[in-house]
Amino acid sequence: MNFRDPFAAYNAGSNVEAHLVCGLLLGAGIEAMVIEDVSQVGVWLGGTVAEIHKPQVWIERADIEQARQVLTDYEQRAAARRAAGENASEVTGPPIEVCCEECGKRSEFPAAQNGTVQSCPHCRAYVDVGSDVGFEGWEEGAEDA
Ligand SMILES: [Zn+2]
Repeated sequence: MNFRDPFAAYNAGSNVEAHLVCGLLLGAGIEAMVIEDVSQVGVWLGGTVAEIHKPQVWIERADIEQARQVLTDYEQRAAARRAAGENASEVTGPPIEVCCEECGKRSEFPAAQNGTVQSCPHCRAYVDVGSDVGFEGWEEGAEDA
């Protein structure tokens, strides 16, 4: 923790979301870190702060304007996902193509369903979404949330 002038850029709803946002900021070239819970905040600030119940993402105050664009973009996509009823997962990315073992047909599932079992739209057999990744798209598309 070596920020010159730390600023709490984002109050996340979960540790997972905090790390997601932190990753977005880091990806945009913005120094960022996650403060996960009360105990860590207490250690970092000498235990002098009131309790903070939500994980936060901290950045340099000088990076606020740049971070604001990233966070605004994230919020818009998060809102879109919530509106679409896909708030069960924070995973984003291109659709996952699955080849059904039963009927051999390919179908696409939202990236948010990565790692879940869905039914084939053609024959209704169960298919593992994302189970056969590891070829193209694995490096950039399949982060552990
Ligand atoms: Zn099928």
